Amino acid sequence: MSGMQSEDQRCVIIGGSHAGVSAAFALRKYGWKGEIHIYEKTTYLPYQRPPLSKTFFYEEQHVDLLKLKSADNYVEQNIQLFLHTAITAIDRDSACVTTDRGNSVAYDYLIYACGARALVPSINGINHPSAIFCVRDLNDILRIKEKLKTYRTSPQALIIGGGYIGLEIASSLRKMDVNVVLLERENRLLKRVTVKEVSSYFDQLHSKNKVRVIKQKNVTHIEKAGKELNVFCEDGMTFTTDIIIVGVGIQRNTSLAKDAGLTIKKGIVVNQYCQTNDPSIYAIGDCAMHDNKKYKLQLSLESIQNANDQAKVAAATICGHEMAYDPIPWFWSDQYDTKLQTVGISTGYTDKIVRQEIGQSNSLSIWYFRDEKLLAVDAINHPKAYVLATRIIKKDQLVNKENCANPEIEFSPLHMIVSV
Ligand SMILES: Cc1cc2nc3c(=O)[nH]c(=O)nc-3n(C[C@H](O)[C@H](O)[C@H](O)COP(=O)(O)OP(=O)(O)OC[C@H]3O[C@@H](n4cnc5c(N)ncnc54)[C@H](O)[C@@H]3O)c2cc1C
Repeated sequence: MSGMQSEDQRCVIIGGSHAGVSAAFALRKYGWKGEIHIYEKTTYLPYQRPPLSKTFFYEEQHVDLLKLKSADNYVEQNIQLFLHTAITAIDRDSACVTTDRGNSVAYDYLIYACGARALVPSINGINHPSAIFCVRDLNDILRIKEKLKTYRTSPQALIIGGGYIGLEIASSLRKMDVNVVLLERENRLLKRVTVKEVSSYFDQLHSKNKVRVIKQKNVTHIEKAGKELNVFCEDGMTFTTDIIIVGVGIQRNTSLAKDAGLTIKKGIVVNQYCQTNDPSIYAIGDCAMHDNKKYKLQLSLESIQNANDQAKVAAATICGHEMAYDPIPWFWSDQYDTKLQTVGISTGYTDKIVRQEIGQSNSLSIWYFRDEKLLAVDAINHPKAYVLATRIIKKDQLVNKENCANPEIEFSPLHMIVSV
């Protein structure tokens, strides 16, 4: 652990988003007296990403509503925020970073919070910036919204990818009365992250909302045809559309770390204190990969929980406090009037219980077990299931599986937990 610190020291944070900003404020909270610099390559005051595919997408909201902290907050906490400034290199021997303006900035501690960018699939003709969009940054969303405003009648949108981002965008587009076709390469939606019951729930939800969901469609090339775009699939099927939105996953921004000789696997490898193989460099958020003790898995998570909690651990450690990262991951997604909440990691489950509450056809929970141990729960419109599962997993309690599987039995801690 670190701990010795003075006003002369400097902590440099690369990346001003959920992880980097949380880390800066947590440093002050845990007593960091020295300088804090955040370098962020984009121009906006750091903002929240989750609303980008949800409320911010379909409502007329001012960008100010998205900001993580006000400009005054940074000043009050004496945090120096350098916007529109990218870090281009890390020199570990001299403990300094280089900015794209050619400045060299020394650090005592470095927090690497560069996150991820949208993965652009290798599809021929995908480069039509005026009509093909990704969904990662505020600018992506502002461009899509601008484009949609140019149509006098409902435009046609085609989404490539049936993961959370693609589905949230489909839902938001429908709220704006845009016609939507969604193409998924796999044989079901959300295949990478969940089981077939959840996939089919969302498939039906989107179909009910008039999204044309088409699975097992691999897009091979795109051609511009006047103002429209023609989309060609491997099996010969074609679609014509006005705009294309791509949501097929992310690429972690690890190249600077790699060039600096830090250990990289799926993300930058960190220990329980979010420290890389260089003890003065920490990596947090989407770009990091940690060893999860509870689940005995190496995980690279893409969630607000992970970004905020890793930020706290890194900041606390730098300030000499004992805090380790050993999370129970959680995540949410909003589509139409449906909220999905997931707690835990279902990887390696041996059996599952699907519980459909009586009289609430839109309320479902999937309970994943490794033998008797509850690993994770997907709760759809079922906040009680999410809260209870979180408690059970945290406390390593046992679920009364028989009661859990029987919707005739009231959903309550008394009936769901085995008292020992
Ligand atoms: C549309 C959308 C919806 C989402 N919805 C949810 C949700 O509902 N629930 C949930 O839990 N999570 C959601 N997420 C995921 C969540 O937003 C991410 O997990 C989170 O943003 C990760 O934060 P981060 O700070 O690690 O990375 P990022 O948010 O990716 O930020 C990294 C920052 O680093 C900057 N940067 C990169 N390289 C450099 C450099 N060399 N120099 C300077 N700056 C650099 C980037 O510009 C960026 O601002 C969503 C993400 C998106 C895009």
